[in-house]
Amino acid sequence: MPSPEEIESILSKYYVVSPPKHVFMLERPAVAFTDGLAFFRGLAPSWRKDVAIITPQGSDETVLHEALHNNFGLSEIITDRAAKVLIMKHRFMERHPLIKDLTPKRRVHYELCHGCKLCSDLSALLIRSPKGASPQHLVLVE
Ligand SMILES: [Zn+2]
Ligand SMILES: [Zn+2]
Repeated sequence: MPSPEEIESILSKYYVVSPPKHVFMLERPAVAFTDGLAFFRGLAPSWRKDVAIITPQGSDETVLHEALHNNFGLSEIITDRAAKVLIMKHRFMERHPLIKDLTPKRRVHYELCHGCKLCSDLSALLIRSPKGASPQHLVLVE
């Protein structure tokens, strides 16, 4: 799972993709029981367009993928393909610090929340984590 600093770095590279106002970093896997066991890398709740959820299985691509869901609300297939292509820019720039420094970037800064209504609502709705092990909630500083 990317760190908060990596999440800021990824999202700062895309002017067409607004960073999600709220990012939740889960400390435990989110699983779905299908015919097998499916692990989610991330989730973009349909009831909150400003929330992106990243699980321990999530990667740099997941951060962008969920932000694309938030921004454009496109289908899973299109979002998946777009994220796979667009994340190349981030990875290329990380390998080429000079180009990274010369490229204009969006200012993206998150602060860690120490408890709010959204934290408790989300925990109640979606995340059943043991007491004391709560997800990290990052709030975008505008
Ligand atoms: Zn998706
Ligand atoms: Zn919070």
